[in-house]
Amino acid sequence: MALVNILHMTTGHEDSSYAKNSLLQETVIQKAIPCLNHTIKGIASRDIFLDGCFKIADLGCGSSRNTLLVASNIIDIVIEVCKENNHKPPQFQVCLNDLFGNDFNNLFKLLPEFYAKLKREKGENVGPCIVSAVPGSFYGRLFPDKSLHLVHSSFSVHWLSQVPEGIENNTLNIYPAKTSPPNVFQAYAKQFRIDFTNFLKLRSKEIVRGGCMILTFLGRSIADPTCDDNCSLWEQLAQSLQDMVKEGLVRESNLNSFNLPLYYPCVDEVRDAIKNEGSFSLDNLTVFQVNWDPQDTDYTNTNDSIDLGQKHGRNTAKHIRAVTEPLLTSHFGNSINVVALFKKFEKHLAEHLANKKTRYFNILISLTKNE
Ligand code: SAH
Repeated sequence: MALVNILHMTTGHEDSSYAKNSLLQETVIQKAIPCLNHTIKGIASRDIFLDGCFKIADLGCGSSRNTLLVASNIIDIVIEVCKENNHKPPQFQVCLNDLFGNDFNNLFKLLPEFYAKLKREKGENVGPCIVSAVPGSFYGRLFPDKSLHLVHSSFSVHWLSQVPEGIENNTLNIYPAKTSPPNVFQAYAKQFRIDFTNFLKLRSKEIVRGGCMILTFLGRSIADPTCDDNCSLWEQLAQSLQDMVKEGLVRESNLNSFNLPLYYPCVDEVRDAIKNEGSFSLDNLTVFQVNWDPQDTDYTNTNDSIDLGQKHGRNTAKHIRAVTEPLLTSHFGNSINVVALFKKFEKHLAEHLANKKTRYFNILISLTKNE
């Protein structure tokens, strides 16, 4: 089955759902606020939306409260900027995009509270604000020509359109790992180049001239793709699957044919793709790290104590489960013991963190659509 029909975060409100496990992504959203501020000021200074309707799209919006937090942040900033410029606030159209399996219903249920809060905080002068869902892949067209002022996407563009081809020899691994053959790294890098270029081309048609795009996604800190912030987390999940194979709980051939459709580019790969595609100018590129466990606020130590490693391992495993469970059950079958798998994962993560505190490396870019 095509990836667009499989990939989604865990739906519903159970303890394992994305709705209950998206603190990591919320942390990343908060880090992007200063950039959002700066970018929206730039759009306003070009008088692009001031008298009409400000049209926003959030791509790969997910299904938790984070989605409406993003919308609120953007609306707050636009209203603030209008105040500073003595302008009446515009109307808002907020388009929430994700793949077909996304739990849009969860988002819809949050809307009454969102609209009520907007009215309470901003009064009758603001609006209308109209929120809608646009299901589909951001690797295809989603909006009419020149119809958006701001495209936002947080923690989504590191998902590829498909697992790269020709990586059958990435056996026992599920992502480029330190032990992967060179062709695996090349195939992943090529798929990213194709996908990210296509993403830019598509958005360049949909965004008005002078409109902007703010993207935050996972990346790696150096060009060497065998670095820890690229490989380590998924090596621990691969190790956990290998344990399941040894215990007869997963077939080795099934593990050999499983690879994640993800890519963590380095900064140069991102810059090169933007430059070569040519539709956008890169206004800002910032990088920042976030601990694997979003509840972990320690950014000084280079490894965890045994106790802390266990706690951080447990919390990391929870959010990774919310992101990967549908992919895992689709490939390994519903009979895979997900609880047992993530118990093993927790243990491997704890051991890794006690030895070396690897963190997520994030890339935040702000782009303006050229002529
Ligand atoms: N932005 C949200 C969700 C991040 S999780 C937040 O910060 O909480 C990543 C999301 O990207 C998932 O919901 C996933 O379904 C979505 N996604 C991945 N590939 C996509 C694609 N090709 N098109 C649209 N959405 C995609």
